[in-house]
Amino acid sequence: MTIHTDFAAAIGNTPLLRLREASEATGCEILAKAEFMNPGGSVKDRTALGLIEDAERRGLLRPGCTVIEGTAGNTGIGLALLGASRGYRTVVVMPDTQSREKIDTLRVMGVDIRLVPVVPFTDPNHYARVAKAMAETLNAAAPGSAWFADQFDNPANRDWHEAHTGAEIWDETDGKVDGFVCAAGTGGTIAGVGKALKARRAAIRIALADPAGSIFASYVKTGELVGSGTSISEGIGNSRLTANFLAAPIDQAWSIPDDESVPILHDLLHHEGYCVGGSSGVNVAGAIRLARELGPGHTIVTVLCDGGMRYQGKLFNPAFLREKAIPVPAWLDRALG
Ligand code: PMP
Repeated sequence: MTIHTDFAAAIGNTPLLRLREASEATGCEILAKAEFMNPGGSVKDRTALGLIEDAERRGLLRPGCTVIEGTAGNTGIGLALLGASRGYRTVVVMPDTQSREKIDTLRVMGVDIRLVPVVPFTDPNHYARVAKAMAETLNAAAPGSAWFADQFDNPANRDWHEAHTGAEIWDETDGKVDGFVCAAGTGGTIAGVGKALKARRAAIRIALADPAGSIFASYVKTGELVGSGTSISEGIGNSRLTANFLAAPIDQAWSIPDDESVPILHDLLHHEGYCVGGSSGVNVAGAIRLARELGPGHTIVTVLCDGGMRYQGKLFNPAFLREKAIPVPAWLDRALG
């Protein structure tokens, strides 16, 4: 019998799922870590724990302290739940474009949430900069009272993924893994898993699946920071190179359009019972592309980052999908149209 004694202990060691349709369509084994099964519902529970444990070790975080972070939502949820179990207050600064469901979840958790308009990173009103400035202001008034988690550039994010997520994937596949594919927001997942797998076998292919509009894929392909188009996915893609992304050993990259990724996540729900969010669709689309490139007989691992109900009003809303020119499956129209 395994008893997890607190919230942190229940993070990670997620099931590795075989995705049947993607595997049958490509002749490869396409496997995915069920990150939506973490206790806070996303892969970012891992990041939150990595960042908090590192700060505790360094003496930057003591009970009563205020944790402040700029986030698309999931890291905020992980930090808030860990904070509840360890005695920290949580303040989240978040772009106002993120899903209603994530915002409501944070409110229910008692998080002090500040919604800000989307502006370029160079603007002092960018959500991550607002979070950092808020921590500095609080610390100037009362030293040590606040801590800025800094998921985009803090190496503790990728280090946790290297020590845990990457090691889990190696162990669970008995080292029989030919490629790993995922999207990047901070880059913590792809950097940590990429480093862990390459250290064990350098030939393992690490590929980035990037949403339209992000500059990451163009950077990998040409070194230029160009993003074109837009995506309804949340938490992935970026307009700048983060320290965690720059540490990732990436071999290749694709820009994945929404009309490729969203139908995949609709099928995952209706044919295989996995209800996942937009970034998971991008990840599985990338895994299929890598499988087609490598040919049948290979094993490719990806990540199902969070649950689909966090985006019900977008991903499972026929009117919203039509507005974005994304195909609406007949079953969704019948259910909600
Ligand atoms: N998917 C979702 C739903 C996320 O919230 C995030 C984190 N922003 C990611 C993927 C990307 O993970 P990472 O930050 O490790 O690159």
